This record gives sequence, structure tokens and C-alpha cells, in this order.
Amino acid sequence: MGRIDREKKTIKLMIEIYCRKKHGHKKGELCEECSELLEYAHKRLSYCKFGENKSTCSRCPIHCYKKDMKIKVKDVMRFSGPRLIIYNPVELIKHALNK
Ligand code: SF4
Ligand SMILES: [Zn+2]
Repeated sequence: MGRIDREKKTIKLMIEIYCRKKHGHKKGELCEECSELLEYAHKRLSYCKFGENKSTCSRCPIHCYKKDMKIKVKDVMRFSGPRLIIYNPVELIKHALNK
């Protein structure tokens, strides 16, 4: 699996945790706002100009997200990043190795 696909998977897991805990949605289900954010984040990754050579988005000099989405995704990462270890340790390790 390439880097882009791995990151797509990680952000999906993070948004799912966030939506479950913050918006009370069931596992595997996302509210409208979170679905929109996920779709947006996946689109950014698909069109990332660095492609498979990208670094982490949080350290990206461009940060291609529009302002409101950037705020949302940061909030999700802050909340779900540390929780990945509880819900998905394997993914977290992969995520950490990627840095
Ligand atoms: S923030 Fe940077 S690394 Fe992340 S998808 Fe956008 S251009 Fe690529
Ligand atoms: Zn939600």
C-alpha cells in the first residue's frame, strides 16, 4: 500500500473515532459534517502535488486545505491522534513510522 492510501486510511480512522465520541455516531457511520470532512481530506490526498513523496500534512509548507477544513482536521487529529493507540494500535504504529 502506498503512502497516500495509508494516510487515507488513517484519516478515516481518526474521523470515525471523532464522530463516534463527539457526535455519538455508530462505528462505521459518519454524520454529514464528518462525511464531508473525510471526503475533502481524501480529495486533498488524491491531488497532493507531492504524491507518494509527501511529508506529513501537518508539516507541509503549502497546506492545501481551505481554512475551515484545516481547523476541523486539526481538531480531529488533536482528539483522535492519541486515541488511535486505544482503538487501533497497529495503525498508530504505521502512522508513527511514517513520520
Ligand atoms: S497539506 Fe500538503 S502534504 Fe497534505 S495533501 Fe495538501 S499539499 Fe499534500
Ligand atoms: Zn461527526
